[in-house]
Amino acid sequence: MKLHRFKQAAAIVTAALLISSATAQEQAGDKVDLATLAQIKTEAFQHSQVMENLFYVSEVYGPRVNNSRNHKAAAEWAMKQMKEWGLQNVHLEKWPFGYGWQIKKFYAAMETPVYAAITGFPLAWTPGTNGPISVEPVFAPIHSKEDFAKYHGKLKGKAVLMFDPATLTLHTRADAQPSLTDEEILARGNARGGGGGGRGAAAAGGGAPGLGAPGGPAAANRDPSGRGRPGEGTWEYTPTSLALASPKNQALRNEVNAFLKEEGVAVALTPGYNGDGGTIFSTYGGSENPKDPIPPPIEAIAAEQYNRLVRLVQHGITPKLTFDIGVDYQKEDQNAFNVIGEIPGTTKPDEVVMLGGHFDSWQGGTGATDNGTGSSVAMEAVRILATLKKPMARTVRVALWGGEEEGVYGSTAYVQQHFALRDTMKKTPEYDKLDVYFNDDGGSGRFRGVSAGGSPQTAAIFRSWIEPIKDQHIVSVSGAEFRPTLAPGGTDSTAFSWIGLNGIGFQQDGLEYGTRTHHSNADTYDRVQKDDVMQGSMIEAWFAYNAATRADMLPRIPTPEPLKK
Ligand SMILES: [Zn+2]
Repeated sequence: MKLHRFKQAAAIVTAALLISSATAQEQAGDKVDLATLAQIKTEAFQHSQVMENLFYVSEVYGPRVNNSRNHKAAAEWAMKQMKEWGLQNVHLEKWPFGYGWQIKKFYAAMETPVYAAITGFPLAWTPGTNGPISVEPVFAPIHSKEDFAKYHGKLKGKAVLMFDPATLTLHTRADAQPSLTDEEILARGNARGGGGGGRGAAAAGGGAPGLGAPGGPAAANRDPSGRGRPGEGTWEYTPTSLALASPKNQALRNEVNAFLKEEGVAVALTPGYNGDGGTIFSTYGGSENPKDPIPPPIEAIAAEQYNRLVRLVQHGITPKLTFDIGVDYQKEDQNAFNVIGEIPGTTKPDEVVMLGGHFDSWQGGTGATDNGTGSSVAMEAVRILATLKKPMARTVRVALWGGEEEGVYGSTAYVQQHFALRDTMKKTPEYDKLDVYFNDDGGSGRFRGVSAGGSPQTAAIFRSWIEPIKDQHIVSVSGAEFRPTLAPGGTDSTAFSWIGLNGIGFQQDGLEYGTRTHHSNADTYDRVQKDDVMQGSMIEAWFAYNAATRADMLPRIPTPEPLKK
């Protein structure tokens, strides 16, 4: 017995030495509340509402193009839900945007030389046809401004095939990326020096969606030449530059749209920037800004059907096409909105833990994986916490952002209104009370890691939070090194890190986000994996609970310098 006790004492001394040497480098983690964790798990796995949320968000109200009537109706539904769950202060916060827009009708067919139904959808902020029109296609790929002169006077009343045919390749890899093992996830984290990976890791905010597809969307099964991805600033028009949100691409779109309009084009067609077999990736066509030119109707159609039209025309066979396109511009209220709701804190209600994701979507599918999942998970996480009624010192606030797809607008407006203007870094009193924002915008995949947002102390704290839930396969903490966020981009956590607040993202399994669903007409409810979004909801609730109940707020990243004095 004595010997045993001696051994124990020695072990305690050794452990103490180990802890103190660890503390010298980084703060120790938290002692976590395992009883509450068990309750969160029960609520998340046995009484889950997350797929019910997703059903309403995607199947009843989707798609939710920013500031459209669908988007607004989804927001009304979300607010009603939040109130039923007992959330307080449920409201919309508005910010200036422009027109809303949504599809009302899409009919497209080839009538001759044989009938074929055409699969597709209108590009966002392009008009309808004002009833059915019968038109002939003309192949007029626009690569550069010089092409304007070449086609001048030849496009009037035509269906313009405005891009080269899509290069379609054999699928030699599975669409869905296999889930990595826990060891592989950890090895990746270590290989990156704990800096994380993917587009999120470039920023301290660690938006960090998709583990699978670093560098952004679309592990393309299209355009192996990379031709579809022009560099910013080059004048080369492709289905990608047509679709991508950015000021430079908007300027390109405006030039081409003005030309097409002036030439009297009846309808313009794109094969989308990725996808085949009926899956079409496309987004922007016009602009939400009332000052930008309104193009003729522009439709994205299935790549094989687009290529068929090009081949027919090239063989001297001119098909007859019918289009009947209806859209709805929402012009009455040009202020878009974020949806906000809260569980007030018990003892430190002015200190705030936030969680959320963007609620707006593109129009081809129903916005299920982008970002019905992140919105549904955040709603489910606050439902779990509201249902458990565990006292939490800090306020837990959920935010469903608008305008992410057009440029991370909703969250950027929010942080500047509530916390600090980025130009001057003039802070409001709320700035010092915002503890952390947790973001989910990585599709359906399971949470496998979390970014520490640029702080080694936070990394140690997060390690202690994931330790008891490693059986859920969230194993890695990355992003322990600080890297400033230059501008909001990629996803909403960057709006927070941009002004020196903790904007935290989770790394998720990539699944088929890049190959099938992200900004495509296959972004639908059935592509969402139920077990994965239940896991994400449990983890978000657990993270929010820990942040809202720990003694201190999480450590801060450095406050950025003002851009203008
Ligand atoms: Zn998204």
